[in-house]
Amino acid sequence: RKGTVIITGASSGLGLATTKALAETGKWHVIMACRDFLKAERAAKSAGISKENYTVMHLDLASFDSVRQFVANFKQSGRPLDVLVCNAAVYQPTAREPTFTADGIELSVGTNHLGHFLLSRLLLDDMKKSDYPSKRLIIVGSITGNTNTLAGNVPPKANLGDMRGLAGGLNGLNSSTMIDGGKFDGAKAYKDSKICNMLTMQEFHRRYHEETGITFASLYPGCIATTGLFREHIPLFRLLFPPFQKFITKGYVSEDESGKRLAQVVSDRSLTKSGVYWSWNKDSASFENQLSEEASDVSKARKVWEISEKIVGLA
Ligand code: NDP
Repeated sequence: RKGTVIITGASSGLGLATTKALAETGKWHVIMACRDFLKAERAAKSAGISKENYTVMHLDLASFDSVRQFVANFKQSGRPLDVLVCNAAVYQPTAREPTFTADGIELSVGTNHLGHFLLSRLLLDDMKKSDYPSKRLIIVGSITGNTNTLAGNVPPKANLGDMRGLAGGLNGLNSSTMIDGGKFDGAKAYKDSKICNMLTMQEFHRRYHEETGITFASLYPGCIATTGLFREHIPLFRLLFPPFQKFITKGYVSEDESGKRLAQVVSDRSLTKSGVYWSWNKDSASFENQLSEEASDVSKARKVWEISEKIVGLA
């Protein structure tokens, strides 16, 4: 049978390119889990993805109710779940003030980390039940996890500190909107959320890999300088960032190429190792990358997991 894969944020950028790459093989049915139904339908159509290879289902990660509703709808569809890809993200590098999810949580960490944390916890049972030979849960990471690169060291650097802000719910009322308890910084909030993504993947691996056989993985797909992720950046940045990445850092990848990379992590037979953070070298060959000290800290991973459970209402 065809595999069923859920991809969050499949309406643009990496998610859309991955949907296209998987649909083209004819071996996958992609559930495009998106907050904007019409945008997703239009995107699928203009990417030339054929109708029988995808279904759009509504999911707004910035609302726990919406996440729960999505899971209920998916269960009702009767489809098995073979692979889940947590891909959607928001990035607010120029925001002066924080914005909030429906549950009153700072938006970047609320969407990128907590929405995905609840989603993947609620869908784990469905993955356990699937009889697919290679089941995978993939959480898209970022370069901010590698301190062995220049881009991984650009300030403001990610830092979760003692997580007092996260423990307080990131609500800006009786707690800070930043995980480490500091002053709001949109670029840092995004990087912190990506560290949480990578720590969560590893904690899943430690807790569930042996028992379930599910492969847990993260990746840095390369710098896809043209996606909507940079939509809130200043115009000059958006103009210069793609050529800068192409010619100076040489970390640039096209959306097509990044989609092929993530599609490999979904379905390639050689990428079944669990607990791995994948990256690609200049010849587009995959390798197991090293994570930064913070992004591989076992006790921080457990703490992120335990606090997140409380916030999303699972503990
Ligand atoms: P895009 O902005 O193009 O895609 C992000 C997707 O997330 C969009 O489909 C967007 O939906 C969706 N999304 C945002 N908020 C929500 C929400 N509340 N509920 C549901 N979906 C939501 O960015 P990219 O494709 O670049 O980013 C994809 C992933 O790749 C992210 O995890 C990012 O961190 C990662 N990444 C990107 C890099 C890059 O250079 N671009 C580098 C490293 C990692 P909508 O279309 O409705 O806006």
